[in-house]
Amino acid sequence: MRNPIIGGNWKMNTDKASAVALARGVLSAAAASPGPEVVVFPPFPYLLPVKEALSHPTIGGRTVAVGAQDVYHADRGAFTGEVSPLMLRDCGCTWALVGHSERRHILHEGDDNINLKLRSALHAGLSVILCVGESLHQRDVGETNHVNEKQTRLGLREVKAEEIDRVVIAYEPVWAIGTGKTATPDDAQDAHEHIRRVVADIFGRDAAERIRIQYGGSMNPSNAAELMAMPDIDGGLIGGASLKPEDFGKIIAAAAAAARVLG
Ligand code: PEP
Repeated sequence: MRNPIIGGNWKMNTDKASAVALARGVLSAAAASPGPEVVVFPPFPYLLPVKEALSHPTIGGRTVAVGAQDVYHADRGAFTGEVSPLMLRDCGCTWALVGHSERRHILHEGDDNINLKLRSALHAGLSVILCVGESLHQRDVGETNHVNEKQTRLGLREVKAEEIDRVVIAYEPVWAIGTGKTATPDDAQDAHEHIRRVVADIFGRDAAERIRIQYGGSMNPSNAAELMAMPDIDGGLIGGASLKPEDFGKIIAAAAAAARVLG
């Protein structure tokens, strides 16, 4: 049984005070729905105050982890503007996101770069969410599985067998991110199933059964339950709705309910 994971990608939103308030809201919401793993990804400048807000007092022993929205692939040195995995660890982060479609498409990050980031984050002891997903054009021409397979294979290249359990894959169709459009549960399930088969091909069936594949793309309180009811959808990566603790809390509750049914 895979424990669902709900991630809140705050993107370039909040200021220091609202980030701390949001973190407290998420902690309360998570405490109301024990079970699913919860991690938030604030902007870099707010990692420390958010970590602090989530550290004490914990509510009902519930923890909410903190992750970075991106990471550089070297530990230190002359890389102006970059942030290393060791620095993230030092700030109390336990997670990093790599390959988010906004970084792929706006900042032109390619699969090789994403793979370097993923491996160096794992090497430093972080857990990593690798985002993959097709564009609308790729979907229209029937390339969804091909694109997801390529991004998964290249993203996970040279990852060691003992590291794969610290990887989560987020299937995020690009056309669904921030648009209000969501993949149907059946379409999302097909994509997740294919990605799991790819992981099985690389790392074996047991690892593929263990790996969590979450859905991202306009997930909200109204569609979360039906998406997470699908057998290969193990939670969600949430953008817009993660900025509202009440909505985010409802999505965590939906994940907890889905896990009870699927479990
Ligand atoms: C995301 O940024 O990963 C995302 C899924 O955003 P949204 O939920 O706003 O579509």
